[in-house]
Formats: sequence, structure tokens, C-alpha cells
Amino acid sequence: MTNDLFSDEHICTHLGDDYGRFHGAVVPPIYQNSLFVFDNFDRLTEAMKDEQGSYLYWRGTNPTVEIVEKKLAALEKGEKCKLFASGMAAISAAILTFLQAGDHVLSVSNIYGPTTKFFTYVEKFGISHTNTLHTDLEAIESLIQPNTKVIYLESPTTMSFKLVDLKAIASIAKQRGIKTIIDNTWATPLFQNPIAYGIDIVVHSVSKYLGGHSDLVGGALITSKEIMDHLFYHEYQLFGGVMPPYEAWLLMRGLRTLPLRMRAHQESGMKMALFLENHPSVKKVHYPGLQSSPDYELGRQQLKGYAGLMSFELVNNSFESVRQVLNSLKLYQIGVSWGGFESLAISPNYGYNTEQLVESGIDPGLIRISVGLENIDELIADMNAAL
Ligand SMILES: *Cc1c(COP(=O)(O)O)cnc(C)c1O
Repeated sequence: MTNDLFSDEHICTHLGDDYGRFHGAVVPPIYQNSLFVFDNFDRLTEAMKDEQGSYLYWRGTNPTVEIVEKKLAALEKGEKCKLFASGMAAISAAILTFLQAGDHVLSVSNIYGPTTKFFTYVEKFGISHTNTLHTDLEAIESLIQPNTKVIYLESPTTMSFKLVDLKAIASIAKQRGIKTIIDNTWATPLFQNPIAYGIDIVVHSVSKYLGGHSDLVGGALITSKEIMDHLFYHEYQLFGGVMPPYEAWLLMRGLRTLPLRMRAHQESGMKMALFLENHPSVKKVHYPGLQSSPDYELGRQQLKGYAGLMSFELVNNSFESVRQVLNSLKLYQIGVSWGGFESLAISPNYGYNTEQLVESGIDPGLIRISVGLENIDELIADMNAAL
């Protein structure tokens, strides 16, 4: 049975439902138990042979968590998924599964801050790292070293929302025996399925759209059975950053409305991007759904939709001007994270890190907004007033 048989809506609402197993409960229960007991010792020794496929202990498998893992594997068109305690737990596990001392990682353009810090952190284990701000293939290829083992991607990139050509990079990497990892949090599995383009591991922070209600933190890792057979027993079980069943249950609840929510985020996001693009106080909008985006054509090829997270640059790019716009907003909350029901606004310019921003190709007048599920006309009016 291949997952292609099911629509995203069916996967989100019903895949993994097993009414007979749960006494007809329409919502699967939370298995809040650390261990599972066996009829006799023989059964336990049998289960020990296949920890991945048995229920033994929470740090390996849990029936509630497993239902959501099945859904996310199916949505991403991957063979296997494991859920983690946070996006960073999934990301660090994915990166380390392919690396040893002496290896090199190449990352492309603006990557989520803590992920970049993680690349610096693993230097102490003899793993080196290069980041290129360029997204074109020649630039990426020219930085591959003989010891490059992983190419790490985000598309769209953090804060700058540039796209990278996933098929082309996966193909270059495969020819050289390099593994590819992508953080697919922005697109969600509904709008982009990188495994279909040849990417080896897809990671998500489920704290964003997949949960969707700003009430949980978690991560997901989707990959082939072959890679998971190693990862489960090592980077998953040994690092131990696993998702608790209550969080999985909340995530399952969030997923039921994911297709509806993403349609709304897309529709409102596009309206917001078009509004911003035409506003005289805005220099530039970073959103791959705009026809004026340099990545528009690539986006049409590899994305199935556009989420509600974007950024724009103010014509007056002083810190004071950024501060004033943010402080004038009434319907957008000021906070980190994104992808929930609530609209959020933030700037990477904190007033004391301009040099660092410019070095990473980010304009000091950049504001990032997460367009939530509120009334879009009200959100646009509020933004207009602040600008
Ligand atoms: C939030 C985020 C993460 C980290 O996820 P956590 O669940 O906070 O650990 C990783 N990548 C992207 C793009 C994110 O936005």
C-alpha cells in the first residue's frame, strides 16, 4: 500500500484511526505510560529483537505518538517518521546521523539561527562547516569539499525567504555520495515534499504550522526505512529527545485542521504580500508567492502553495523606524516563533546587531510577519496604520 492513495485531508483527519483497537473512541487515547508489560519473559525477549516495531518503553515507541508519525510519513511521502521533543532535537539528530570527526557540512543561505549555532557547536568534535549566502548551483557546487558529507538546506530560507533548487542540489549531492537534509517547516508537507526531489531527510519544527495553536513544541524527522533503521537506535534513542504522548495528541488535533488552516494562511498571506508590495514605506517584500520574486518560477515548480510567513524591508531602515512600526501594531503580537493562529511580528534587528545582520545579507530594516487566522482586512488595515 503506498501513501499516494490518500489525500492530505484523509491523512490529516483519519489515517491511523483504528476504532476497533480503541473501543470505538473517535479520538485515540493518550497512552501516558512509560513502559509496557508482557505476559511472560519470552514475549519480552522477542520484542527486544525489534524495538522499533514493538511497544516496550516510551523513549522508543508509543501508540499515540505512532499514529502521528504515520500521518507525517504519509504526508511527506516518506517511509518512516519519528517525532522529537523539539524541532532542534530532530535537526541535531538528523545532522549527526551522517557525520563523524573530519567531515564537513555545507549549508545554503540564511539558516535558522540555532541550527547554525549547532554547526559551530559540533566543531569541537572535528566537524567543519561552510555556509554560502548564494543560492545558485555553481556557488554551491564550488564549495563542496572532498570531505563534505552533508548539504543542509532550508527553502524558503530563514528571514530572507529565498528558494533553492531542491532537485538540482539533491542530484549533485547524490552523484558525490553526499546526504541532503532540509528543514521544511515553512512549506509544511502540504506545500512541499522534498523526498520526492531526492532529499534524504526532511525535518520539521511541529511547533509552527503543524501544531498550529502555539500550545506545543516538537519536531519531526521523515526519511527512508534504511536511514531510520540506523537513526532510531542511535540519534533517536540515545540522545533521548523524544516527543511525549500528550504533545503528540495535541499535534494530532492540530493536524486535523492543517489543510483548512494552510488554505487560509495562503490566501491571507498572498493578500498581505500584495498589500505590502504596493506600500510606499516598503522597499521590498520577501515572499516567493509574489510574481515579482526572483524565485517565483522555481517556486511554481517545486512548491504546491505558499505559507503565511514573510518579511519586508522598510524604506527607512533605521532601528528606530523598525521599532516604531512594531510598537504601533495592535493586531500582531510581538514574539518569537510563528505558524500559530495568531499574527506575529518581529525584526531580527535588535538595535545592537546591525553589523552581524548585514554580514548575513539581511537588511536592518527587515520585519518578519506571520499572518495568522484573524480577519485579513483588519490585519492589513492595522499594518497600513503602523506603516
Ligand atoms: C522554530 C524553528 C525551528 C526549531 O524548532 P523548535 O521546535 O523551536 O526546536 C527550526 N527551524 C525553523 C525554520 C523554525 O522556524
